[in-house]
Amino acid sequence: MSVFCKFHPIKHNFVVMFLVVMLVCALATEANPKRMIFGKQKKIIVLDPGHGGHDKGAQGPDETFEKNVTLTLARIIAEELGNTYKVILTRTDDYWLDIHARTAAANHLEADLFISIHAGGSFLHQASGMSLYYFKETSGSTLTLKTEPSKPLKSINTLTPWTNIQKRHQTTSQALAELIQNRINEQIIFIESEIQGAPLKVLEGADMPAILVEIGYITNPAEEKSMRDISVLSDIAKGIRSGIDDFFEKVQ
Ligand SMILES: [Zn+2]
Repeated sequence: MSVFCKFHPIKHNFVVMFLVVMLVCALATEANPKRMIFGKQKKIIVLDPGHGGHDKGAQGPDETFEKNVTLTLARIIAEELGNTYKVILTRTDDYWLDIHARTAAANHLEADLFISIHAGGSFLHQASGMSLYYFKETSGSTLTLKTEPSKPLKSINTLTPWTNIQKRHQTTSQALAELIQNRINEQIIFIESEIQGAPLKVLEGADMPAILVEIGYITNPAEEKSMRDISVLSDIAKGIRSGIDDFFEKVQ
């Protein structure tokens, strides 16, 4: 018997064969396309908390800043979505982010949805209610939306002008807004809500279904109070999650 090997020759061959089989199995699993598809199956949702840093957004009578409400709500929605989806926030803390960098991040990640979160402001303190926006150019408007993106995007390869990217998702974006509106209305029955098409800069460069949710008027004292209430924000988050679930079930 060799001093270098304590295995009986037959046992030795068995061990080598076993290792070869294991290696082949490992390589086959690695190359298995089903496994790769499965790995990509989690949909990517980009949440965009509006404003940040020096840009405080709208301000409530009780000194609540929109930039803080949007970040808090985005974090709660991220928690809600976390088990089912891959969620990325465009900003994770209190800093300013260029408006085009927000959609550019979503495009770069090849996200499945982009949702920008805001809390509206109005000089009319009685203004109230939730608005959900999808991108729509207003007819005859000379939009000042021609700013070029800071980075080249993959969609430019398909020769689609920057300002036209979101147009091709208009129908699905509108559908997303409607599904989310329905579900939020189930959660919070006292909030009035409406859906509007508008030429919003923060949506125009998104190459995926994209909406902006304005969760109410922070300038309205009652709604400002609601925006500081975590249970209200949680209900909004639940509505948004159910609306997103519906979207992937029914639309895409
Ligand atoms: Zn805002």
